[in-house]
Amino acid sequence: MANGGPDNCSNCIHNRAVREVEAGNLAGLEEFMRRSWCSLREVNITRPHWTYCANAASHPPSDGCEPKGWIRASGLYEGYVRIPWHGSVEPQVEVPARCHVCRRETDQGITIDDEGQTLGFCTNRHYVEWWQTRHEDPDLDPEAFETPEERFGDR
Ligand SMILES: [Zn+2]
Repeated sequence: MANGGPDNCSNCIHNRAVREVEAGNLAGLEEFMRRSWCSLREVNITRPHWTYCANAASHPPSDGCEPKGWIRASGLYEGYVRIPWHGSVEPQVEVPARCHVCRRETDQGITIDDEGQTLGFCTNRHYVEWWQTRHEDPDLDPEAFETPEERFGDR
């Protein structure tokens, strides 16, 4: 499968690059990636096939264009899971990190830019636990994600 679900930015009418493809103005995947930009939320989309939101649509929506919910990224692989962006800031996934929550160091963690400071996380779960100290979403349950003990096999 080329992507992680139908509701991603690579098909979405709000993605400037999708509109440029439809107009015949874009050549190739590289340019598509570089030109991907969400005109609804006004953010750069670096991984359009792996970035999701509830507004994703292949046709102009009939119910207006208010952003709904969070942009989501593909999280660390534990099966395909999605983690929310920190507002308009995209989490970096599968990068070296020292966990802000538990201090574990890993080569395959998550980092996020938080007002100029880079915070690291060992797992999707610790990222989401931190995220919930900044945002509210009663539908997002940190316990749905692997614990560090499950992920790293210690304990
Ligand atoms: Zn941790």
